[in-house]
Amino acid sequence: MSRTAYRTCPLCEALCGLELTLDGDRVTRVRGDKADPFSKGFLCPKGATLGGLDGDPDRLTAPLLRSEGSGHVPAGWAEAFATVERRLRDVVRRHGKDAVAVYIGNPTAHSIAGPLYAGALVKALGTRNFYTASTADQMPKHVSVGHMFGDPGAIPVPDLDRTDHLLMLGANPLESNGSLCSAPDFAGRLRAIRARGGTVTVVDPRRTRTAALADRHVFIRPGTDAHLLLALAHTLFAENLVTLGALEGRVRGLEELRALVAGFTPELVAGVTGIRPLEIRRMARELAGAERAAVYGRIGTCTQAHGTLASWLVDVLNVLTGNLDRPGGAMFPRPAHVATYRRKTPFTTGRWRSRVRGLPEVKGELPVAALAEEISTPGEGQIRALITIGGNPALSAPGAGRLERALTELEFMVSVDPYLNETTRHAHVILPPPRPAQTPHYDLSLLGLAVRNYVRYSPPPVPLEEGRPGEAEILARLALIASGAGADADPMTLDEAVVADTLAKAVAAPGSPVYGRRPEELRKQLGSPERGYELRLDMMLRLGPYGEGFGADPNGLTLAKLRDEHPHGLDLGPLEPRLDEVLCTASGLIELCPPSFAADAERLRADLGGSPPDGLVLIGRRHLRSNNSWMHNVPQLVGGSNRCTLQLNPSDAARLGIGDGDAVRVTSRAGTIHAVAETTDSVMTGVVSLPHGWGHDRPGTRLRVAGAHAGVNVNEVTDEREIDPLSGNAVFNGVPVTVERVG
Ligand code: SF4
Repeated sequence: MSRTAYRTCPLCEALCGLELTLDGDRVTRVRGDKADPFSKGFLCPKGATLGGLDGDPDRLTAPLLRSEGSGHVPAGWAEAFATVERRLRDVVRRHGKDAVAVYIGNPTAHSIAGPLYAGALVKALGTRNFYTASTADQMPKHVSVGHMFGDPGAIPVPDLDRTDHLLMLGANPLESNGSLCSAPDFAGRLRAIRARGGTVTVVDPRRTRTAALADRHVFIRPGTDAHLLLALAHTLFAENLVTLGALEGRVRGLEELRALVAGFTPELVAGVTGIRPLEIRRMARELAGAERAAVYGRIGTCTQAHGTLASWLVDVLNVLTGNLDRPGGAMFPRPAHVATYRRKTPFTTGRWRSRVRGLPEVKGELPVAALAEEISTPGEGQIRALITIGGNPALSAPGAGRLERALTELEFMVSVDPYLNETTRHAHVILPPPRPAQTPHYDLSLLGLAVRNYVRYSPPPVPLEEGRPGEAEILARLALIASGAGADADPMTLDEAVVADTLAKAVAAPGSPVYGRRPEELRKQLGSPERGYELRLDMMLRLGPYGEGFGADPNGLTLAKLRDEHPHGLDLGPLEPRLDEVLCTASGLIELCPPSFAADAERLRADLGGSPPDGLVLIGRRHLRSNNSWMHNVPQLVGGSNRCTLQLNPSDAARLGIGDGDAVRVTSRAGTIHAVAETTDSVMTGVVSLPHGWGHDRPGTRLRVAGAHAGVNVNEVTDEREIDPLSGNAVFNGVPVTVERVG
């Protein structure tokens, strides 16, 4: 008999509510949840195929152990965990704790387990070799807001539903559904800006579907957003358009910024950006003239050589126009699970450095661009073992060819992943988490990026099979193994330790709803939930800004109330100004011109007044039916024409003698790949574009659908040597390449 269950879609950052129809434990239909107050029934093609992903026959149902000669063979959970314990202990005993590295991939941000348990694993290992997909994606934004506001997690989002003018750079939400800005039906929200008389401007080297929807699209040379943004700031100062509004008296460094931007006139950046001075001035005036405006930069502004500067300058413009932290501008969401009374330490970087290149730590992480060399370069501190959780760095890391070779050199590798894929095929042990229908959902990372204050918890619609650990339990067990407690330790001991520690801090924190109370009394109120993550989530919600504060506000939130009374999610209202809660710089002010950023801006001066360099540069590309490499094994999402093509402008194609559909060779410093050419004037001249997440042609994987639509791995030509120096982020946009016709 069929039944209905509700949950949040875990497939991108938009947080859509889903209505699942289940026949037994099988998902037979997926629809948008019309009762969800945030997504209101919106659904994209990825969400609609969640059933296909859930029931994918290639999904692993038991651990795999790699055996010499016979590839990966199924094993029991006890044997798999015991193998991990034995092999990890051996590596640490012989080589020390930094010899074990951890890599966490992007899907982990969409789970409860990753944010709650991965940190405990890294802490228990005591390793400095911690890597995530953040340094292939968004680390520049963390660094820029970390220095400006003191908290690397304090990312303002455009208040899409109230703004009158949106300036977007390097963002393509019609394909991505939004990133670092969670907004179901992003396209509908953009259309609504125009419908209410507002304007949308898109700056992008491609005329994307998002650009086509906007009032205006401005082509820009890849990697030059920081130049443009400096010229926009220059124009605001030069034309007396700076209006801090409510931020007056709350910023430091305004005069230093004014001095810095003085040299970046629209005329001087025109050559390098490819944007006419007239256009730059018009953009600045429109921004300043709008009643309520927001500047929003995304992946294209992060994954480039000046990623941190571009990310910083996006918010500089929001501040200079008085649009930061006010309705219709760029605002800080208020997630229900994040306590606001906690005193935060101002952000800093470089507490340690990578061994080979000396790259600074950021947010406790080293750049993924350094992972291959840290594995392959002999010497004290060399990585000998690797734990990957939910990522596919063999496809997603820059210079992926080198990383793939490095993975073969590891003494031991364990992967928490549902697939035998391009990365996990190198693992000695694979621990598969259960399918989405068996997994609880609460967006610990993304609710802090939502364009409305909103919260939703979805318990797993389908129970786990007897003896099958959930993802949270798998990660907790790994953390307990790393801590020395052993493979058989009760995972709940980890949750109880975290709860005890958090409650002890909460009762000692003035301003907390439980200040001065006894932790044991609070712990009793949490009862005895079966799952550790529910225990912790309940505690977080009670201590959060909408929580019941362990009796302080009987109408406030608990996990039980959220789960039982609001199965479709709970709207907590529009974003509200909350700079006082967010700001934690040492000065207590918004740091408008951090010295390290001003120093890095000197790199831009060399380009001023010049022309764009000759030759082609490579950029990436998103598609609505794809999210990195995760969904290429779902037939409905990869059917149709080949999407992994090299797009180039017809004028470049003609110059190079390349026709539509020709086979081409793409070469960079890092490597060579072969692709199929697609000529289109949606790409500006001098730019070629290839999507990432493809290259499913490796032996030893178990991805039958993806293997039949293999595509080519663009990261064999991106270059692990090229990074944004302030964040360590990889450079995927603006990679110099040559392209030639073959055959
Ligand atoms: S937009 Fe994102 S969250 Fe919404 S249905 Fe599609 S994949 Fe899921």
